[in-house]
Amino acid sequence: MSHTVPARVDGLPAVPLQRSAADCEPIPFVLTEAAELLPRRVPVVVRRQVVTVDCPPWCVAGHTEELVSLTDLCHEGESIALAAPTFSAGAPSSVRILSAYIAQYPFSSEAAPRLVLDANDDGECAELDEAAAVAFVDQLVAHGAGLRRMARVLGGLS
Ligand SMILES: [Zn+2]
Repeated sequence: MSHTVPARVDGLPAVPLQRSAADCEPIPFVLTEAAELLPRRVPVVVRRQVVTVDCPPWCVAGHTEELVSLTDLCHEGESIALAAPTFSAGAPSSVRILSAYIAQYPFSSEAAPRLVLDANDDGECAELDEAAAVAFVDQLVAHGAGLRRMARVLGGLS
């Protein structure tokens, strides 16, 4: 008695054959897109000792400062701000408002990322967790809708 399964049994479809590598199209492989999503390993100096830490893809910090403690390590994202028109010294001007960036102290007791918001660009920042940030942005969008309604009224006033 043979223990070999025949490739074809009467009444049944043939056993599918595995394609060889030579028969297959190469799988598209783009390293950069996936690599951008991965944390990069960066050296950090803590009290003259070099340690390597994961740095998230959104972080733009150079991590070149010597740290007293690893809890001082801060990942920082790209900063954004809004240029709001103003009138200063008798001429139209603008001021930066609503500066914001993401920050995370991954080795501190509060390791979750925060939205750092500097409302009037004076260095006094609020750090918002996700719920607080979303709530603020909802208020900002509603405020923007109010500004838009006012702007549209201007056309009807002249
Ligand atoms: Zn970082």
